[in-house]
Amino acid sequence: MSRTELQSLGEFALIKRLSQGAVLRQPGTHKGIGDDAAVLSAPAQEQWLVSTDMLLEGVHFDLSYVPLKHLGYKAVVVNLSDIAAMNGIPRQIMLSLAASNRFSVESLEELYRGVYLACENYEVDLVGGDTTTSKSGLILSLSAIGTALTSHIAYRHGAKPKDILCVTGDLGAAYLGLQVLEREKQVFLANPAMQPDLEAYEYLVQRQLKPEARTDIIHEFREMGLVPSSMIDISDGLASEILHLCEQSKLGAFVFEDKLPIDKSTYETAIELSLDPSTCALNGGEDYELLFTISQKDYEKIKLHPQISTIGYMVAPEEGVWLKTRGGQEVPIQAQGWKHF
Ligand code: ADP
Ligand code: MG
Repeated sequence: MSRTELQSLGEFALIKRLSQGAVLRQPGTHKGIGDDAAVLSAPAQEQWLVSTDMLLEGVHFDLSYVPLKHLGYKAVVVNLSDIAAMNGIPRQIMLSLAASNRFSVESLEELYRGVYLACENYEVDLVGGDTTTSKSGLILSLSAIGTALTSHIAYRHGAKPKDILCVTGDLGAAYLGLQVLEREKQVFLANPAMQPDLEAYEYLVQRQLKPEARTDIIHEFREMGLVPSSMIDISDGLASEILHLCEQSKLGAFVFEDKLPIDKSTYETAIELSLDPSTCALNGGEDYELLFTISQKDYEKIKLHPQISTIGYMVAPEEGVWLKTRGGQEVPIQAQGWKHF
């Protein structure tokens, strides 16, 4: 692959190269990249949802095992997940980046290929950003813009006592994918001739490197006429997010260990690595599934849904936040999560 130095191109030419793949699909995008500001409109009656995230090389990602295209994809997805977590539909994103001269134009184009793939899959438009140099490494700042009807917005504070706690998909896989990648990195550092052996861990590695935002569930909520009473996305681990919902809704919760959705390969790999599968599901991060509460009258709407598990229910705040284990014990739920600090 040829290597074009960033300095040889200059800022404007670089922006032009990187923005070449931008396709505008949203009727609410009136002007995307190319002017001093993007021009957007929300569908009638809907409100804006805006969220932003920073990703720093060495803090949030490690390019020794994260391909740049995957990084671009994941950076978009984790932002879209925040819009989904408000029960909104993502519409646009903005992407700012600072890159050191270690990066070539081609490598940034590879990053953008991942960004554009996510834009295509989720039908969102890249409408702008900023480009600058960094003294060391790569820094990304992503913002996502979405919309929702006022009456559909799901806050963290909306849960009521007796509401049912639900999660989408399965948990713990992304965390185990990271463990597997870290292990292979150590093997590789010790002996660069060793090729990574990831086949058996395909699902876990994919969950770590190429997570998806559950916008599919948001669309389904609309079709079934369901508005969760509260919602949050699971980026820092289920336990930590349950505590956020409880704190903001001023409630307690009972969660049942035997209801935690854990994929077979997650379970088996946890055992192989001498980890407790339930702990991985509770405290592993980066699943980007949705944790939400529904009123009991809505239970019929979700009870047969293959991608939704009911894991517990909300109680009065004095009752606390507890995990009821398989063995019948009650263990307080504590955040251990995914701390970059
Ligand atoms: P300004 O000088 O007004 O900040 P720029 O030259 O930085 O303008 O940006 C020109 C256009 O390119 C703007 O629409 C901006 O949003 C967009 N843009 C700049 N950097 C990026 C990037 N990394 N990704 C996507 N769009 C970008
Ligand atoms: Mg600028």
